[in-house]
Amino acid sequence: MAISTERGTPPAGMTPVPGATPVAWPYRNLLALEDLTAEEIVHILDTAEAFRDVSTRSVKKVPALRGRVVANLFFEDSTRTRTSFTLAAQRLSADLVDFSSKGSSVSKGENLRDTLRNIEAMGVDVVVIRHPASGAAAMAAQCVRCSVVNAGDGRHEHPTQGLLDIFTIRQAKGRIEGLNVAIVGDVANSRVARSNLHGLRKLGASVTFVGPATLVPRAFESLGARICHDLDAVIGEFDVINMLRVQRERMASNVFPSFEEYSRLFGLSGERLRRARPDVLVLHPGPINRGIELTADVADGPRSAILQQVTNGLAVRMAVLFLCHQAAGG
Ligand code: ASP
Repeated sequence: MAISTERGTPPAGMTPVPGATPVAWPYRNLLALEDLTAEEIVHILDTAEAFRDVSTRSVKKVPALRGRVVANLFFEDSTRTRTSFTLAAQRLSADLVDFSSKGSSVSKGENLRDTLRNIEAMGVDVVVIRHPASGAAAMAAQCVRCSVVNAGDGRHEHPTQGLLDIFTIRQAKGRIEGLNVAIVGDVANSRVARSNLHGLRKLGASVTFVGPATLVPRAFESLGARICHDLDAVIGEFDVINMLRVQRERMASNVFPSFEEYSRLFGLSGERLRRARPDVLVLHPGPINRGIELTADVADGPRSAILQQVTNGLAVRMAVLFLCHQAAGG
């Protein structure tokens, strides 16, 4: 399959962001932010910036993927990510096939490779895959020749979530370089933490992982994060606090004594937030366990950018679908 090394031309009806650096986007797949350079990440963010305007028009569509087919393959539950990819594909004028493991031949024993190859045989151009196994997206990319976009693979990465978090931070703070970002909570089980760490560090931010030692092991220092087990000791240092969901579905038992204690030590309450910087930005990838990671006054308060994250996710996913498909010769 031809892989373009030219910078993609913007789709009809769109102009490139003024001042954006021309960067080649040669990848038909998006599997992990760890694989990308800073320039490539910025190029996705700038492309998303151009797509953001599409959602504010009365006709919320561009013809960039008209006649193409995007398949959502979700082997794990999802609300935001799945809906966001669905809308992103529709706003690019693609046809969409929505596939879940429940109610499909997977429940009859079909393996991932066969499922993928059958879906590709139906003429799908882009596969968006979520899977509980780390590495499943990379494996999918080896099984098919169409584009593959990772929508979260086990504990490994969730690159579009990392990109939309970084997009939201850039929008609020005007830059990424030099920022101090805390990622708080269940780092051990979080693909969001890994994608954020790789993306933010490449763009020049400092990242601190904060949480109990059972969920924030020292070994993560080797990835380039600072590690801290006492949120109150460091809360005043950060420009951004990204609160992670407690991943009950991936968690070994007894990683902390009780949810009450977890929330008392690592939850973000209004009272704790008063000790943070007055302009701190609060993020959460969702779904929120209210009262555990965040209290309602923080989740719905003026420092929270949680709904902006969701809005921005749509533009970021439009950009990713567009760029990957274009690189695949689309
Ligand atoms: N929605 C994100 C994910 O799928 C975050 C979370 O579920 O905690 O990883």
